[in-house]
Amino acid sequence: MSSSTASAGTPHPAIETGLTDVFERCRTQTQGKVATYIPELATMPPEQFGLALATIDGKLSTRGDADSEFTIQSVSKAFSYCLALELLGRDEVLRHVGVEPSGDAFNAIIFDPRTERPFNPMVNAGAITICALIYRELKDDALEFVLDRFSKAAGRRLRISDPVYRSECVTGHRNRAIGHLLLTVGAAREPIEPALDLYFKQCSILVNATDLARMGATLANIGQNPFTQESVFDVAAVRDTLSVMFTCGMYDYSGNWAVDVGIPAKSGVGGGVVGVVNRQLGIGTFSPRLDDKGNSVRGLKAFQELADEFGLHAFECTNYGSEFMRSLA
Ligand code: GLU
Repeated sequence: MSSSTASAGTPHPAIETGLTDVFERCRTQTQGKVATYIPELATMPPEQFGLALATIDGKLSTRGDADSEFTIQSVSKAFSYCLALELLGRDEVLRHVGVEPSGDAFNAIIFDPRTERPFNPMVNAGAITICALIYRELKDDALEFVLDRFSKAAGRRLRISDPVYRSECVTGHRNRAIGHLLLTVGAAREPIEPALDLYFKQCSILVNATDLARMGATLANIGQNPFTQESVFDVAAVRDTLSVMFTCGMYDYSGNWAVDVGIPAKSGVGGGVVGVVNRQLGIGTFSPRLDDKGNSVRGLKAFQELADEFGLHAFECTNYGSEFMRSLA
């Protein structure tokens, strides 16, 4: 594992020191297990650990394996939700997918009993519905639309891991079952296979922790990539996306996360976590060992420590967070 690295712009020395301290404290954490239910994910080296922080004024600081690629998995759900809001409008998306935390596992086969719709777009049922909506609008252009916008948010052209995509296609029976159930309640329409295919492909997009930090910074910068200045996401869609990330982004740990960390975030079983400190910065972490909810163990600890170290909790009572940005100036 490489140690301290990289910066574009000159982050404040206090930030650099704080980041190094957090990284060192977290790297000793070796609990958790790499995901195996998608067989290809089991091949990930468990020791990897990357940390990246990107500010809305275009500064970047990274530690460890911040350039190592892994599949984005459920982190994609936040960004594709944002795109669906832009494409179809809030009302139409809300007619198909709610915004309530479910309190259930990400792959639970359960819908909101009142609406018969998926609880929210951060669980598989909701994310597959979002893919069905994007496919309904764009048909064969849907994948390129998703890949292009994700790439613009990351600031480089992203690609799909074919082995992970194939592995997920072959073993994704539960997601197929969810897809077919969505048809029975009218949340999605035929044909469901292309929607599932889009879902599997979007989960198989390769990113690194630096990409996640830049993608997070693009959301923090209300849709404009602060490194390329390109407009990537619709402003109103960003607001709704961050709200749902805050309440539903960390699996059935989201309530605890909101209290302990207080940063809108989304994690994935590939070991990535993206976090967004609104109007300040994006944070990306990568470490493949997961806890029993599916969250990266080191990722959780890193976010917790960063929130404490830099005062990043949304409701930080000292409002130390704004000091953070000032100190970078
Ligand atoms: N592609 C994974 C699945 O559907 C995503 C799960 C996750 O990262 O939460 O099972």
